[in-house]
Amino acid sequence: MNSIVVNLTQVKERIELAALAAKREPEEIELLAVSKTFPASAIEEAMHAGQSAFGENYVQEAVEKITQLEKLRPWLVWHFIGPLQSNKTRDVAEHFDWIHSVDRLKIAERLSTQRGEFPSLPELQVCIQVNVSEEESKSGVSLSNALELCDAVSKLPNIVLRGLMAIPEPTSDPLKQRQAFAAVRDCFKQIQSSRLVDPDYQFFDTLSMGMSDDLEAAIAEGSTMVRIGTAIFGKRDKITK
Ligand SMILES: *Cc1c(COP(=O)(O)O)cnc(C)c1O
Repeated sequence: MNSIVVNLTQVKERIELAALAAKREPEEIELLAVSKTFPASAIEEAMHAGQSAFGENYVQEAVEKITQLEKLRPWLVWHFIGPLQSNKTRDVAEHFDWIHSVDRLKIAERLSTQRGEFPSLPELQVCIQVNVSEEESKSGVSLSNALELCDAVSKLPNIVLRGLMAIPEPTSDPLKQRQAFAAVRDCFKQIQSSRLVDPDYQFFDTLSMGMSDDLEAAIAEGSTMVRIGTAIFGKRDKITK
């Protein structure tokens, strides 16, 4: 297996090539390193190679690592990207900088209230997760209900609405990958253009889509943040959570 440093370089090259192919600037696309199931030492290794944004899926595992790496906090930015139950929102409000996986108002309201209990922290950055493939098992609000949820979330204190996140149904067909990402992009652009002068939407700039196997398709369709785990840290052991 390659080292994390080599993998990071290769992922950045893929991002750059995909951006150039889409006639976009590579700097428009942020790399989020998804470190779930990997130890704090792997995060430190990636950090020493220049990576600062890390994504985690499981609250308890993440809080342990964030606490372990507290000294590095000024350089690290923590993104929560997993499904979130309402009894775990406080941990996210206390420890994270971003959350990508808000898909109902109740969760956003709890995060808003609980973030307010930590006045020294900046506002929590929030993306709304959309369910583009309309899979029963997947979390996410439907594309047709995304605007309504965004409107409600955008008005809450202590959090900032940043954009949309999607995890399309896995497929190795690049055309199908692009269709799904294009649908999310269209929804994102529609929300942006219909709320152009709304101050609650002034930071609505993030389209979080693309993983190790489909980052090229996501970038071709306008992704501004790719969430990459396997291609940086290697294969994950099966987890039982
Ligand atoms: C695990 C995970 C990723 C990273 O997936 P890879 O295929 O390992 O790159 C990205 N986003 C979310 C929401 C995840 O849960």
